[in-house]
Order: sequence, then C-alpha cells, then structure tokens
Amino acid sequence: MKLIIKSIIIAIFLTLQISALNAEILENIMQNKQTVIDLTYPLNSKNAYWPGPSYSPFTYESVATLEKNNVFSGKYSTPEHLGTHIDAPNHFAAGKPSVDQIPLEKLIGPAVVIDVSSTVGGNDDYLLNVDEILSWEKAHGKVPQGAIVLLNTGWAKRWNNYAEYKNADEVGKLHFPGFSEEAARFLVEERNINGIGIDTLSADYGPSTDFKVHHIINGAGKYILENVANLDKLPPAGATLIIAPIKIEGGSGGQTRVWAILPP
Ligand SMILES: [Zn+2]
Repeated sequence: MKLIIKSIIIAIFLTLQISALNAEILENIMQNKQTVIDLTYPLNSKNAYWPGPSYSPFTYESVATLEKNNVFSGKYSTPEHLGTHIDAPNHFAAGKPSVDQIPLEKLIGPAVVIDVSSTVGGNDDYLLNVDEILSWEKAHGKVPQGAIVLLNTGWAKRWNNYAEYKNADEVGKLHFPGFSEEAARFLVEERNINGIGIDTLSADYGPSTDFKVHHIINGAGKYILENVANLDKLPPAGATLIIAPIKIEGGSGGQTRVWAILPP
C-alpha cells in the first residue's frame, strides 16, 4: 500500500514537472529565448513528388485578384505525397489511422537527428543500419519515448532540382538513401517511437520496390515524414518537434508543417 501511495506521489510530481517544463518552453518561445526552425519546404510547382503514374506536380492559380475583384484568393491541387508531407499509417497498412485520425499527442515529441550526411558519401543507395542508431545512443542516450527519428542524409542540397533529387537511372530506377528494414524494425520493436522522418522522397531507399520500411512503420500504426527540410540546422538531441498535417478525412497523408523548437 505504501508503495502504491509513493508511486502516485512520484507520478504527480513528474507530471507537474513536465507541464512546468512545457510551460517554460512556450514562455521562452514567446520571449525569443528559444529558436524555432521550420522544417517545411514552401509549396510550389517545383516541389518533388512521388513519381508514380497518376501523380502530378503542385499547381496554384488565383481565382480572384485585388485588381479585378478587390480580394486575393487562390486554389491549388496537389498529390498527398508531394513536398514536405506525412505518410499516415493507412498509407501502407489496412485498418490503421488515416491522416485525420493520428492522435495529436503523437504529433509532438523529441527529435532524434541521425546525421549520416558525411558517411553517405558517393553511395546514393545508402541504408541506415542499426549500428548507427546504437552509436547515436552511445553519444546521446537511449532514443527517448515518443521520439521522431529524423535521418539527415544530406540529400536536401538536391532539393531545388527534382531530376537530381529523385535521381533516376537510365531504366528509371530511383537512387537515394533511406532507412534499412532492420533499422525500421529496431525502432518500432525495441524503441517506442512516434514516427520517423527523412530528407529524401521516401523512407525506403530509392531502388526499393517492396517498400518494407513503409510496411514496418505504417504497419505498427506509426507515421513517416518525407522531404523534411533544414535537418542540418538541428542538434542531434534536445529539439522538440511539432507536426501539423493537413486534415484530409480518410487521407493517406498530406502536406504537413513541421517545426522544431531548439533547446535553450
Ligand atoms: Zn509519402
């Protein structure tokens, strides 16, 4: 009985401490004491999108102008999987949450940033292995509960050139880095993450045809962020992510504003 009371007191104490910490973060942001980094690319017709048969570029046109209509207003069309976006669990797994059903508390969490931009080197088909996650942990501690694990492959420097970004060879096979199947499995089975993210078109590397990483992550009810910007501006640990996806009812994903609050 004593033990139960003790645990309850500890739980209350921890909850109070966490909410005080969060209140402090928000206060710091309002007073410009903590930096917020936008991890989102602006949407425009040059944005990279998944090069599947029925996919198309982002388009935007104005439907009213200040000159003609005294009001400016536009309309746009876009595939869900274009630009900085989220893959909802239902993207690859039946019966899992659609983009509008991802619980909001899963869209906030500590950012784990694994920087492999220098180890990728000339290997466009680079895969993140479990050892690299373990060596990140050796330096920064265990991947925290509810983390969003972001892979900085250095691919962002190709962002402004869609051809270089998707990097298709002469037979149309894509080449860019990704998570290995083992790394994805480790993160969902051995660490309780909220999701993963990457600075390329897909969490599965370019040549993938079976999309194993998508199946593992989405199959576990978790999400994937793709075409994430500015990962080189984040510390390996200590940033907090806020992820705000478009709320398409039943959608498989969609454009998402992602921002990171840096530690003070
Ligand atoms: Zn996607």
